[in-house]
Amino acid sequence: MREELDARLRQELDATRAAGTYKVLRHLQGPMGPEVPMEGRGTILVLSSNNYLGLANHPEVVAAGKAGLDRYGAGTASVRFICGTFELHRELEAALAEFSGTEAALSYVSCWNANEGLIPTLAGPEDVILSDELNHASIIDACRLASRTERRRYKHGDMADLAAQLGETKDKRTRLILTDGVFSMEGDVAKLPDIVDLARKHRAVVMVDDSHGTGVLGRNGRGTAEHFGLLGEIDIITSTLGKALGGAAGGYVASSNEVIETLVQRSRPQLFSNALPPTVASSALAALQVLAREPERVARLRENVAHIRARLKDAGFHALESPTAIVPIIIGKTADAIAMSDALLARGIFVTGFGYPVVPEGTARLRIQVSAAHTRDQLDRVVAALREVSEAKAKARA
Ligand code: PLP
Repeated sequence: MREELDARLRQELDATRAAGTYKVLRHLQGPMGPEVPMEGRGTILVLSSNNYLGLANHPEVVAAGKAGLDRYGAGTASVRFICGTFELHRELEAALAEFSGTEAALSYVSCWNANEGLIPTLAGPEDVILSDELNHASIIDACRLASRTERRRYKHGDMADLAAQLGETKDKRTRLILTDGVFSMEGDVAKLPDIVDLARKHRAVVMVDDSHGTGVLGRNGRGTAEHFGLLGEIDIITSTLGKALGGAAGGYVASSNEVIETLVQRSRPQLFSNALPPTVASSALAALQVLAREPERVARLRENVAHIRARLKDAGFHALESPTAIVPIIIGKTADAIAMSDALLARGIFVTGFGYPVVPEGTARLRIQVSAAHTRDQLDRVVAALREVSEAKAKARA
């Protein structure tokens, strides 16, 4: 029977290869940074990582991970409520709550896990979920788990549509509005002031997944809420520790005491799965401390973002106006985006091409991600290489 399954999968994989959409894993031989040694490629310049603040290989973050391992070992070999929870997790969660401007926080092994733990726990049959159509896949899957709840999508960033759907769902017990803070494929920012206004008017609850806003937006990197002057005003924030905050893994929910206590009691990943390893929790705590001490990292990231967006514009690329570190360049066909990504890699520059089904058909793109750790020179090299690659593509077409 396995042979039949393997044969079917082989056929499907061959079709992906033939379509030019097969994803190749690139093997790195050193820590994540602006430049990384890649197997068979030498040292390459990375613009596809979420290492927004350059903390993934920061000496304090690395040392804290080692100290966490020495102090607590690999983990409790059990679920938190069954076999105890490390005081380190409590310390990390208190720091995350403070950072997020909320009463409490709870860590998960990833933000994917946090979204899946949160949404089906809060939403029952009497409730409704209203989710931006471009929300991250983890929110989409989490909504699927809330199978007894009415689930609606509103058009991306369309406040009139959201308002209309809030109007249509007046009779529901809890109306849960879900939005990314920064949309991961577009790099645009949610219209949070409008969403919060609408939520207040309609007595709805707002959840923001700020995975790409954390460490990036706001003067102190406290995310989309800080960017809009809304710290302390967002009902529920989820985010990741796997991007700006150390880049290892992990996620969290930050909210009221009642939401967090309910998650401890009922959220399935908390009840049936192990906690974040102490190494990772310890590194994330150190990353938060470095960020609090060095907000200039966020300022440097902001300057780098403005620099590359301006240079791309000068070079004739259309990059959306946005303060975020995600700069997509729309190419069109998936195979073209992947071919351009390969051509950039041949020039020592790592920019990932994304196509269907990650983004809608016909909107395949190169996604540039900027870090505070990049130099101006490195960013200028990327723009020059992009220009070369797109001119070569135009020539080949002519
Ligand atoms: N939410 C958003 C908006 C993301 O972009 C991502 C990662 O790409 C996640 C959640 C998942 O984060 P994690 O890697 O912590 O599971």
